[in-house]
Parts: sequence; structure tokens; C-alpha cells
Amino acid sequence: MTERTEIPVEFRCIVTLGIDFDGPSHEVGRGIAPLGIHSWGRYSARSGIPRHMEMLSRHGVPCTFFVPGYDARCHPDTVRAIDAAGFEVAAHGYLHEAWDLEEAEESRLLHQTDDILRDLLGKPVLGWRSPSGRKTQNTMRVLKSLGYIYDSSDKDYDLPYRLRFGGGKDDWMVELPNNTYSLDDFPFYKFSYTPPSEVLAQWQSEFDAVYASDRFFVLTVHPRSGWGSGTPARTRILDQMIGYMRSHEGVHFFSSAQFARWCLDHPQQLEEVTIP
Ligand SMILES: [Zn+2]
Repeated sequence: MTERTEIPVEFRCIVTLGIDFDGPSHEVGRGIAPLGIHSWGRYSARSGIPRHMEMLSRHGVPCTFFVPGYDARCHPDTVRAIDAAGFEVAAHGYLHEAWDLEEAEESRLLHQTDDILRDLLGKPVLGWRSPSGRKTQNTMRVLKSLGYIYDSSDKDYDLPYRLRFGGGKDDWMVELPNNTYSLDDFPFYKFSYTPPSEVLAQWQSEFDAVYASDRFFVLTVHPRSGWGSGTPARTRILDQMIGYMRSHEGVHFFSSAQFARWCLDHPQQLEEVTIP
């Protein structure tokens, strides 16, 4: 194992923003019609994503949108608009699968989503985030065969690392772990109905600590209504959070693919971990 990952000193703090599309796939995958009271996912495509894109463009910061294949099929113009605005589109399951899959079925769904996104974007997809956090060595093998350079599913570390899934020289990918609890909107809006002002205070306190220590800050939000950040007041605190981070010296925003490429160029600076 190499030494602990070191973020180079020229980057005082690296920030990656991940927006998980989580449109109607979230309901349809659970057998629920995405209409009426269950139309929070449709809000993502119609209102939340345009609102987030306007805000991100105003700040001039990059961002990665993790998109389920089903949502891309339902809302192709929204996905094209994300790409046309200069943001990264990455994969996030097909029906936002949050259940166990046989290897063959998982492989089919990973290929299906990749085909949909590639056709829409006219270019390769480079990253993936598991809808549930679930993944296996087989998941990594399939993604690697599709040309993906990073995974952003694990919750086990504060820094990027090399995730090894086999014994071959190239059997590894960049892992960009994320923090599903204090740096995600979901638990605040789903479980505790935390007021947006308090969510902002929580994110700022995590940022202050990261800025002073590990210096890799990854924030995940969902543009849905319901438990997401798509609504006006919740988007506004995301807006304020980005402004807060930008006010600090030496903060660099990267899309996940941009930062994964930096990691690929500096593999010796990354710790290596093998999937058990
Ligand atoms: Zn999701």
C-alpha cells in the first residue's frame, strides 16, 4: 500500500459538486407511477435542473450530473442541455437500482445506460455513481471495459484513491468517495426536515474543517422536490454555499472527470485499496 493520499499544496482545497438527477426513475424503479404526489422526480427535470444550471453558470463552476438511463430516455432534452451548458454527464444506474442484481442483469443495465447517454451526448461517459452505494468487483470490471475512468460510490474515505478490483496491471479505477450524510441534502430533507439555513450551516462547518485539513470537499445534491434541493429556497442555500467556498483563497472547483484525470496523471500520489 502506498502512503496516504496527499492533495498537492498548490490546491489549497479541491471541490467537486455532484448533482444526482434522480428523476422519475426513482419512482418507476419501485413500481410507483411518477405522477401526482409521486412526481418529485419529474420536478427534477422540469424545474430543479434548470434552476441549478442557471445558478452554477452564474458562478462559473463545473459540476457533474449523475443521470439514470431511464431519466435520460424520458428527458433527453434536459440531458442535452446539461451537456451543452458545459457540465459533465455521468451514469447513475438505469432505474436507480437500489437492490441486488445478478451479474448478467447488472452488466446489461450498465451497458444500456451507457448506450443511452453516449447516443445523447455523442461522446464517451467517464464516470459512474451507484444509485444505492451497492457495487461489486464485477461492477468495476464492466465499467472499466466501457472506458470509465472513475467511480464515485464509496463512503469510506475523505480523499480520492486507487480502487483495485483485480490482479492485472490495469485492474483499478479512480475512486472519488462521497459523504452521504453530512454533505448530502437527502438525510436533512428526507428524515429531519432541517430548515435550509441549518443545512447551509452544517455544510459550511464541514467545509471549514476540510479546508483546514484534508482539502477535498465533495457535495451531493438532488434537484428534486420532496427530499431534494430543487426548490427555490433550497437552491438558494446551495448558491450561498458555492459563494462561501469561492470566497476562500485557493479553492479549485473540478468536475469529477476533471479531478479523476488529475488522479490518473498522479497515481503515485494516491493510496491504493483492493475490493475485498
Ligand atoms: Zn440517486
